[in-house]
Amino acid sequence: MKRIGVLTSGGDSPGMNAAVRAVVRKAIFNNVEVYGIYYGYAGLISGDIKKLEIGDVGDIIHRGGTMLYTARCEEFKTEEGREKAVAQLKELGIEGLVVIGGDGSFRGAEKLSELGFPTIGVPGTIDNDIPGTDFTIGFDTALNTVIDAIDKIRDTATSHERTYVVEVMGRDAGDLALWAGLADGAESIIIPEEPFNMDKIVERLKRGHERGKKHSIIIVAEGVGSGPEFGKKIQDATSFETRVTVLGHIQRGGSPTGFDRVLASRLGGKAVEILLEGAAGQMVGIKNNKEYYQSISAALSEKRELDLELYRLSQELSI
Ligand code: ADP
Repeated sequence: MKRIGVLTSGGDSPGMNAAVRAVVRKAIFNNVEVYGIYYGYAGLISGDIKKLEIGDVGDIIHRGGTMLYTARCEEFKTEEGREKAVAQLKELGIEGLVVIGGDGSFRGAEKLSELGFPTIGVPGTIDNDIPGTDFTIGFDTALNTVIDAIDKIRDTATSHERTYVVEVMGRDAGDLALWAGLADGAESIIIPEEPFNMDKIVERLKRGHERGKKHSIIIVAEGVGSGPEFGKKIQDATSFETRVTVLGHIQRGGSPTGFDRVLASRLGGKAVEILLEGAAGQMVGIKNNKEYYQSISAALSEKRELDLELYRLSQELSI
């Protein structure tokens, strides 16, 4: 393989740039040319493709977002769209592709490999919801953004003796809520994977209040329902003054943490390594602090399990 491509797709996440840099530099180190595809699969179809040199990925390791931009592309979900994409790649002599994105992007990568075009997936999403890797690129940064915000909310919650409900991202995965809740000592953590009992949440708040607690923080993952709805229910049930913060898109931005930069560098490098060895339709991931890879279809056929022990611990520590 003498020429490969790299693109970022779906929702952006901090650390995607570090992964692009790793792909480009690892390839060039191995005397392989790299082409950057802009705007994800949309750019693959339209031919928005440019050769990248070592310097093109300089000064991006610390930046959030993605220098290749990202997009969602309905046309790529059609056979015709994917054939156009492969034709663009072949015209430029590109022989393999690295796709940095979430599970949707991985399904696209798998379909490209089925068309005979070797493609490797690198997990980039703040949700940490991809089976087959302990961590996704961007999760740690988003977690620290949430922690930083909750630390600030806690100051004002204490000053005013209020209950705060904080809605964090996570449609199907409660990792961000769970880790942030543990890191911030939240009273209750409401996540999509585990049923919640409103009576118990209220009871715990009242117990804390009786003990003289100055504030309470409840974290809700967006997939379970809206923060404002929970806030109203809690205020009605406890009559404690309750405020709600929806953190929204600040969770997706910002400079990647050291952990995410290193993870992105490791996984970007690994993706190039296996692509050059002849792998196709695989995703790279991290398991027990070692890079590894497995087929995208096998990874996505598993259901991603939340760490229930961690959830239980969070409950034990917030008595
Ligand atoms: P993410 O990668 O963050 O999960 P999406 O689910 O929006 O984001 O997927 C990103 C893009 O990947 C889509 O816009 C589409 O172009 C492509 N994609 C998603 N699912 C499929 C699929 N089943 N087949 C082919 N391409 C897909």
